[in-house]
Amino acid sequence: MTVKDHDKLYIGGQWVPSTGSGTIDVINASTEEVMGRIPDGTPDDVDRAVAAAREAFETWQQTEPAERAKYLQALAEGLGARNEEIAEIITGEVGMPIFLSKMIQAGLPAAVAGSYVGLVDEVVWEEQIGNSLVVREPVGVVGAITPWNYPLHQIVAKVAPALAAGCTVVLKPSEVAPLNAFVLAEILDGIGLPAGVFNLVTGVGPVVGEAIAVHPDVDMVSFTGSTRAGKRVSELAAQTVKRVALELGGKSANVLLDDLDGDELVKAAKAAVGSCYLNSGQTCTAFTRLLVPRDKQGEVVDVIREEVESAWTIGDPAVGAGRLGPLISDVQRQRVRDYIRAGIDEGATLVTGGPDQPDELPTGYYVKPTVFADVEPSMKIAQEEIFGPVLSILPYDDEDDALRIANDSIYGLSGGVWGADVERAKRVARRIRTGQVEVNGGSFNPLAPFGGYKQSGNGRELGKYGLEEFLTVKSLQL
Ligand code: NAD
Repeated sequence: MTVKDHDKLYIGGQWVPSTGSGTIDVINASTEEVMGRIPDGTPDDVDRAVAAAREAFETWQQTEPAERAKYLQALAEGLGARNEEIAEIITGEVGMPIFLSKMIQAGLPAAVAGSYVGLVDEVVWEEQIGNSLVVREPVGVVGAITPWNYPLHQIVAKVAPALAAGCTVVLKPSEVAPLNAFVLAEILDGIGLPAGVFNLVTGVGPVVGEAIAVHPDVDMVSFTGSTRAGKRVSELAAQTVKRVALELGGKSANVLLDDLDGDELVKAAKAAVGSCYLNSGQTCTAFTRLLVPRDKQGEVVDVIREEVESAWTIGDPAVGAGRLGPLISDVQRQRVRDYIRAGIDEGATLVTGGPDQPDELPTGYYVKPTVFADVEPSMKIAQEEIFGPVLSILPYDDEDDALRIANDSIYGLSGGVWGADVERAKRVARRIRTGQVEVNGGSFNPLAPFGGYKQSGNGRELGKYGLEEFLTVKSLQL
């Protein structure tokens, strides 16, 4: 396998070496081999990138929205043209089966970039309020810090609306899955985006990420990642009172209401597995807590055991050998195994799976798809974000009890409700304190606002709400 060796950063429209000499190895999640290398950037690199972004902002902010839309159209086409290559890179980095990577990891960013072509026209750029002309302006230089699980999607969900708004960007992608960000930089360079409008500085969070968060010339930090790092970014950004948008972790609850029976109950139980296991559970919105009526837990457990053991095969993601690939890294595998052991130690019933490496896959960071039943709300596996293929089934007594358990979390990112009576299911969905709720398996909508309540964050991404994030308002008194 060829190693993708990137020895330069993208700053001010040029590929330039880092001011430091360090490099970071990028590891393939299923072979455990080095698949790439990137510069281990420095605070000086951030300074240079921010200066370039600041300079470019002077002219970029004055371009017409329609002109910016042309670049977004070209970006969407560029991402589409390199779909297979992007999918292969991210399957290597993250471990998602290739057929899913093409759709989600590579296809979704192209769709999101394309969505902003039309959305720039939906912004109310100015409005008259009494004797004032209220104008919307780009917030300025944006520092974007992103995670590894849907790496390019999370980048494009910031870069596309920021550019549409008229902001300029310094991106620090995850050091664990950064290779896709170089493809993005190549595409933006290739479409002739003016120098300095987009800049790429790779490196680790405590160095490059923190340098962005404290930088006095960065007007806004848009951060997606763990709640722990998001809090740190907020603290640092507060010193210069910059705007901070956070997209953080989750522990989402999926509630099966007591009016479900027969085929409807089976359908909801099977779907619950997919809602937890996508990307081997490495999804911030994963429905990791399944809440079931106490008297139906046995039936649901039987369906889920059968579903997991027959349909959720694991295998080499590069050839799409299973529905589940490995986890991203040895560190993550270790964390997830520790959680599985904690679930056993705390007395939850292990339905299937477990902490051991699958016998048939000795290489790669694989974890067996795991299900626990009889999980109590106070248990670690019911409270903490595991980020692996681990589903916790919690029995509840009545609707109020289900809502109490669903909302008993520091997180508030997503959730689901399944019920035979849709109006009742919608009522329950409104009482769940999260930024989004799927009713009866309602599908992901890339134009709907995406974000969290509570410690899952305070930002909203995607669609027109995602664009609003990068705008600020000014009143001209006339
Ligand atoms: P992480 O917090 O470790 O890293 C995210 C990014 O922050 C990386 O680029 C990292 O280098 C950087 N970073 C780390 N420490 C930093 C610091 N002190 N200062 C500045 N930057 C720092 O998260 P991860 O492991 O890459 O991603 C997994 C987490 O992301 C999970 O908690 C998941 O729920 C969350 N996530 C949230 C969303 C969402 O939209 N709400 C989406 C995907 C992932």
